[in-house]
Amino acid sequence: MYQAPRGTSDILPEEHPYWTYIEEKASELCRLHGYRRIETPVFEDARLFIRGVGEGTDIVEKEMYTFEDRGGDLMTLRPEGTAPVCRAYLEHGMHNLPQPVRLYYIAPIFRYERPQAGRYRQHQQFGFEAIGEGDPALDAEVIDMAWQLFARLGLKGLYLVLNSIGCPKCRPGYLAQLRSYYGKIAAGLCPDCQARLERNPLRLLDCKREACQTAAESAPRSVDYLCPECHEHFQRLRVYLDLLKLPYQINHRLVRGLDYYTRTVFEVQPEGEGAQSTLGGGGRYDGLIEELGGRPTPAVGFAAGIERMVLNLKRQGISIPQGPPAADVYLAHVGQGAKERAVELASWLRGNGVGAILSGSSRSLKAQLRQANALGVAHALILGEDEVKRGTVILRDMARGEQQVMTPEQALQALRGVV
Ligand code: AMP
Repeated sequence: MYQAPRGTSDILPEEHPYWTYIEEKASELCRLHGYRRIETPVFEDARLFIRGVGEGTDIVEKEMYTFEDRGGDLMTLRPEGTAPVCRAYLEHGMHNLPQPVRLYYIAPIFRYERPQAGRYRQHQQFGFEAIGEGDPALDAEVIDMAWQLFARLGLKGLYLVLNSIGCPKCRPGYLAQLRSYYGKIAAGLCPDCQARLERNPLRLLDCKREACQTAAESAPRSVDYLCPECHEHFQRLRVYLDLLKLPYQINHRLVRGLDYYTRTVFEVQPEGEGAQSTLGGGGRYDGLIEELGGRPTPAVGFAAGIERMVLNLKRQGISIPQGPPAADVYLAHVGQGAKERAVELASWLRGNGVGAILSGSSRSLKAQLRQANALGVAHALILGEDEVKRGTVILRDMARGEQQVMTPEQALQALRGVV
């Protein structure tokens, strides 16, 4: 028997109300803030991510699904949402529009990771990006939206953590301090961190091993090495966040797994769990568009995994609206003549806006009604040879077990709730 590939899952109809709920809340949030939906292809030129996300990152080094297509081009299944949106921004000349351009997406993401609870090889991300403006008021808007998203979903006990990791002007000085600090204690670090020390020292700060965590606590802090412009940006952002009454905490060890971040980085985390279970994260990426061949263009964004939202909704016992029933009416039939009439009637009902499921079998009426019950359909239309002859139908209220003989028009009115 075949199974879904490791690290992937099927979202069955029973589960779907969670997804609908989240997507509706997300879309509503975006509408309220003037963000418009964009969809980009599931795969892109591999170089987009190698350049955009950064060669030294875990994503590019170990996690991308990259393949050569039949034409010999190297393609990668989208491992994150921001670089494709920036590619589309450039390709469609969106820099000519009033800035910033506000966009959002709901899209599958592919990463070859070690599967565990809340970590999959294919997951779905909701993300939004504001491209073309560097003002910290926009960072505040994006952070506020991220926070509002989870509030609207009804999730409680979350933490908003914030940091500033500087820009290409001030970061090298900070990285030199980090290297010097960690260089002195390198022997006590885990092998991964020893390897990161030269290539990507920022990542040492969020290593999950205990020895490295202890070392990170006393490590130099990026906020102490910001250039005056980055310092000012961070201070102003904090003023806006205070105006919005957002309960953020500064975490000096917060860095993100992608190279493109500058200045602001932030995450929303659930209670009592580490960054492994982060609900969503984002930040400013002022260098990315230029890296992809555009003019220098500041931007800021956020993304969150839908599976983790579902997980947290369940964990917190939050009840969500159940979806509509499978249909409004189930058509049961006995005999070939009745079956033919039922085929016609089902089509006619649907044409009139009534959801109709046609019994697919010629089993006993009892078995057909049992199926109607199992599907949770509130009404059944029953057709036998007598009904065909008289041009009538039997409308059955499934919950009450009451039946009435009537014309198809009367049944339509009743099903529409007009009578
Ligand atoms: P990132 O693109 O790494 O910043 O991730 C953004 C968000 O996507 C995370 O906070 C998670 O909610 C979600 N996410 C990232 N990787 C995975 C994964 N492998 N499985 C499920 N959700 C993920």
